[in-house]
Amino acid sequence: MLIGVLALQGAFVEHEKMLAKSGVDSFEIRQLCDLDRNFDALILPGGESTVQGKLLKELDMMDKVRALIEKGLPVWGTCAGLILLAKSIDGGEKPHLATMDIVAKRNAYGRQLGSFFCKDDFKGLGQVPMTFIRAPYIQSFGAGVEVLAEVEGKIVAARQRNMLVTAFHPELNDDASLHAYFLREFVK
Ligand code: GLN
Repeated sequence: MLIGVLALQGAFVEHEKMLAKSGVDSFEIRQLCDLDRNFDALILPGGESTVQGKLLKELDMMDKVRALIEKGLPVWGTCAGLILLAKSIDGGEKPHLATMDIVAKRNAYGRQLGSFFCKDDFKGLGQVPMTFIRAPYIQSFGAGVEVLAEVEGKIVAARQRNMLVTAFHPELNDDASLHAYFLREFVK
């Protein structure tokens, strides 16, 4: 099994470390030709979605990544990755990959609560640690989207077909249960 981690900006190294801890090989996707490798799933890390979206475009990678996802490549977007996958972004900002039927609200917890940590229920896993850093939440969703976690009434994790999104950063805790979940449920 080989997992590609988009490594244009943000917390990609932390995902690579979690995958290594889970005994899984990964490689960094930095340019168009990296997408030609044979790999089993893709992780879109947290960071800054506007920067990542701009780089995906400039490096001519946007259409290819979208096509791979649409063809069924398992993908997990964490935080900024959730925003990249959303079909729509609240406020009228232009969407990026736009493959998942969710509306993302960016920087959704305001300035004061920009970053926080909690433990909350994740469907099928019980309590998991959740680190939020200027995180989005899912404002609304379409048919076929399953909600996996809510914090204070806001949707912070969901899945649809081959796509998993979490508004929080599971790669920033010691707990590898979300990585194991993605590998088990999506990458067979
Ligand atoms: N605020 C960032 C954005 O809008 C997301 C933050 C994160 O990935 N930790 O893209």
